[in-house]
Amino acid sequence: MSKAIVIHEFGGADVLKWEDFPVGEPGPGEARVKHTAVGLNYIDVYHRTGLYPLQLPHPIGMEGAGVVEAVGEGVSEVAPGDRVAYAANPPGSYSEVRLMPAHRLVKLPDAIDDRTAAGMMLQGMTVQYLVRRTYQVQPGETVLWHAAAGGVGLIACQWLSSMGVTVIGTVGSDEKAALAKAHGCTHTVNYQTENFVERVKEITDGKGVPVVYDSVGKDTWEGSLDCLQPLGLMVSFGNASGAVPPFNVTSLAPKGSLYVTRPTLMTYTAKREDLVASATELFDMVGTGKVKIEINQTYPLSETAQAHRDLEARKTTGSTLLLP
Ligand code: NDP
Repeated sequence: MSKAIVIHEFGGADVLKWEDFPVGEPGPGEARVKHTAVGLNYIDVYHRTGLYPLQLPHPIGMEGAGVVEAVGEGVSEVAPGDRVAYAANPPGSYSEVRLMPAHRLVKLPDAIDDRTAAGMMLQGMTVQYLVRRTYQVQPGETVLWHAAAGGVGLIACQWLSSMGVTVIGTVGSDEKAALAKAHGCTHTVNYQTENFVERVKEITDGKGVPVVYDSVGKDTWEGSLDCLQPLGLMVSFGNASGAVPPFNVTSLAPKGSLYVTRPTLMTYTAKREDLVASATELFDMVGTGKVKIEINQTYPLSETAQAHRDLEARKTTGSTLLLP
């Protein structure tokens, strides 16, 4: 048995229940992981509300770090005693102990402590694939990144700035603007008080940007398309303000023959070699100090509901940990 956060129905933060959950022995290909730290991510909210449906009842949480306690038959990737971390399906990381498919686990190097790992695996590997694979951002380019002071956002600002990229970052308050700037964001736009399309046009001398990274979704979709250069790429990778409504693909023509993609980390790390390559690059960025993981909130795992409320109320910045 483990204590875990389980949902029995979709809904608000109140549906997150702290209860006993059976664990058992690892089967073939599985490892049992005892968590030392768990990461909070916006996808956990989508699972909780049912925007990304799960079969109920279901434990939730996509990211954790800890120690392998036992492995099942045929496991070669990890061994008992290894320090590991992951950002992967199936949901269930909001727990003291759990079973995981062993091929989704990554061994942690000495330079990366457990809390840093739990605060970065999902958000950091997301930045890695978005800036290196979805669109290969080049030094000297200017990109627009929404929610620049969030978990993904603060990692992206540092990563891109270390590459010599100019980052225009949107934020919901002046405090968040200062935080994003301190992490390498070149220009900040408070999209609660300023028109971000006009500001992007102003900063780029009317040219627009070659790529927009938009995880806000419904509220920024239209404006983001208007920030793109001809042949620009709209990377719609999240829905913090709600899902993007269905759109007319023909509308991309007059805006400059635009491209649109809707990527997910799970696709980009589905192959073991891609997972390991992405994690290794992230470990390198953090290990060499180019990216610092800002863990700005911690909660006891049993108080996950409050963490969800704060995330949805836009009260958090950087990464958030839940501690067993
Ligand atoms: P964040 O820490 O970035 O939190 C979300 C932020 O979105 C808020 O802090 C807020 O910042 C902004 N926001 C704008 N509008 C709203 C709104 N109406 N309600 C709530 N928040 C709003 O979360 P994460 O770093 O965990 O994730 C960032 C985004 O990236 C999420 O949308 C997530 O789903 C997505 N994501 C996608 C992945 C993929 O592979 N597709 C993988 C990982 C994350 P502000 O106040 O500054 O506007």
